[in-house]
Amino acid sequence: MKVVNRIEDLKRFLSQEREKGKHIGLVPTMGALHAGHLSLVKRCVAENDICVVSVFVNPTQFNDKHDLETYPRTLDKDCALLEPAGCTYVFAPSVEEMYPEPDTRVFDLGPVASVMEGPRRPGHFNGVAQVVSKLFYIVEPDRAYFGEKDFQQIAVIREMVKQLGLPVQIVDCPICREEDGLALSSRNTRLSPELRKKAPLIAKTLKESVAKAAGMSVKEVHDFVVNTINQDPDMEVEYYEIVDGNTMQPIQKWSDTDYPVGCITVYCGDVRLIDNVKYNKQ
Ligand code: AMP
Repeated sequence: MKVVNRIEDLKRFLSQEREKGKHIGLVPTMGALHAGHLSLVKRCVAENDICVVSVFVNPTQFNDKHDLETYPRTLDKDCALLEPAGCTYVFAPSVEEMYPEPDTRVFDLGPVASVMEGPRRPGHFNGVAQVVSKLFYIVEPDRAYFGEKDFQQIAVIREMVKQLGLPVQIVDCPICREEDGLALSSRNTRLSPELRKKAPLIAKTLKESVAKAAGMSVKEVHDFVVNTINQDPDMEVEYYEIVDGNTMQPIQKWSDTDYPVGCITVYCGDVRLIDNVKYNKQ
């Protein structure tokens, strides 16, 4: 495994691999890796000859300066996890390397970006599109791997790829969870031990709502989820939307879509957690 900091070096290594007919997979991350990230890496390793993992805390996608400054940076530990997972190249550029000049590109990502996280984190998806498109231009991967934990992000990336006409296959990977159901996230380490015990209520409630959904309206399921979680004084649902899993648009009734997905954001204390669940077609 090679750790590469320079764009020029990575491009040179990868063009040599491509000349040998190797297929290249990319896993974009912001580091502080956990088993969720590693599940993407393992899939990438299994499906490609070369696995590139980028580790870059992208400033342009943070709309909260404090969040950017306190984001965990653990490159040595990340590399120690990536090598045994079969990663071929770790791409860990500096901010100056990725953005020698400010990236002024403004993407019009349309309806998939205008709901849920979009209006609540202004500039976030534009920053994601900036960094992921740059990574795609640098790496030119055959396939790129993203976690369904960030469900809306995958739809935004698919839209960007379509608009730019990039020849990359987007592969979505299932959410990895702790044994108690909590979706793995680099932000879970910010939970106090007491809140850490409470956080699984989110996944538990979503799971329960799937079991109850047959025979309930979309609104009833929505209200059940919000009310159950909000009953805990330390938890506050920011939004819960049941949407069409392709368009991200809210549905009114189950027959509005073949692919209903519930997307939630909850403040657990002051830690913002996201999760989602797929409902059966009704
Ligand atoms: P991040 O470093 O948080 O930007 O995440 C990098 C990639 O890992 C994204 O595609 C995430 O969706 C994915 N990811 C993060 N947490 C999980 C998880 N618990 N299960 C599956 N994928 C995840």
